[in-house]
Amino acid sequence: MVGGNLGDADLFSSIVSFFNSPLFRLTENLFLLFLVVVWGSLVFWTYRDARRRGGLALYWATVSLIFPVAGWLVYLIVRPPEYLEDMRERELEIKTKEAVLGNTDLVCPSCLKPVDKDFLICPYCRRRLKTACPSCERPLKIGWTICPYCQETL
Ligand SMILES: [Zn+2]
Ligand SMILES: [Zn+2]
Repeated sequence: MVGGNLGDADLFSSIVSFFNSPLFRLTENLFLLFLVVVWGSLVFWTYRDARRRGGLALYWATVSLIFPVAGWLVYLIVRPPEYLEDMRERELEIKTKEAVLGNTDLVCPSCLKPVDKDFLICPYCRRRLKTACPSCERPLKIGWTICPYCQETL
């Protein structure tokens, strides 16, 4: 086999012996092991992802265990669109915005109608809300002794 030209029969028998060789068996086993690892990882990933999204984690893990890859693909299609943390974070954000909107600064303290934060006077009940800086004319809170924008003493 070493040196010289290999005939067709020799080539064929060397291919066959390669497939029967321990090296090939090892490669084959490693490949199977790799598939099992991928399969297991997908099952684990599905379980964790479904739990984070508030889905039926055990159910989907079982599905992707019974139907390798296919179950995982189906899960990818039907899974809940966002993580629970993201949902909570967004709710918190909305609440914060609502709190800002509900801030007394933006409501006339007298008639409780919505006013702009730059309004000097309430357009509904004419209550004075802020005073204009004599120098830069920015709206200042009543009671301030110095303009925080231009440092003009009031
Ligand atoms: Zn008012
Ligand atoms: Zn000023």
